[in-house]
Amino acid sequence: MNRHIPAIAAILFSIALVVTLFGNFFGSPLISFAEEKKVIYLTFDDGPSDSVTPGILDVLKEEKTPATFFIVGSQAKGRKEILKRAFNEGHTLAVHSYSHKYKEIYSSETALLKDIETCNDLICSVTGKYSSVYRFPGGSFNIDPQLIGAVKAEGYRCVDWNASFRDSEIKNANAEDLFGAAVTTVANPKHIVMLAHDASDKSQTVLALKKVIRYFKSKGYEFKKF
Ligand SMILES: [Zn+2]
Repeated sequence: MNRHIPAIAAILFSIALVVTLFGNFFGSPLISFAEEKKVIYLTFDDGPSDSVTPGILDVLKEEKTPATFFIVGSQAKGRKEILKRAFNEGHTLAVHSYSHKYKEIYSSETALLKDIETCNDLICSVTGKYSSVYRFPGGSFNIDPQLIGAVKAEGYRCVDWNASFRDSEIKNANAEDLFGAAVTTVANPKHIVMLAHDASDKSQTVLALKKVIRYFKSKGYEFKKF
């Protein structure tokens, strides 16, 4: 037995060395890695809609899960009650756009900030508070850095995503396709910002949502909102 001790010691030393050398590549020492919480933010863009948003709110309520709605102001006409419901049920209403017309909003700093302000006025009329959270229509990936700077200078926290239902990309997707995308597109497993949509044609998103929530719950994720 004793002759195994040096071998075991060598293995333990090697493991310790690997942890020391590579632990920081994962952003934190491995010792706290297991304790650090895994977090997921569910985000829904382009609503509200009569046909999809209430269904999403029903599932979120059933699953006691918070979410963030990046709203399109022009979609809210006659649908303020839906936004009120989302807010009253503990979700965050955040700024996406008023018109969601890329050509117009990205034509100048002034046009972009005006679009954001108009959307935020609407949010304030529902919640009593302006939002400080913003998502660029289409994401910030290809946006002129000057425009991004202008938005940040107004005090906004700009939020993209690193996982997606791909419910605006997969043609004729069913709920199973969307679930598959949601669990396989995760780019950072410790900190997920999940993109989905609650526009009127996203009925399959509602059907996929419960399974997605239960999947990430089973993997030990905490659900948060912005
Ligand atoms: Zn959008």
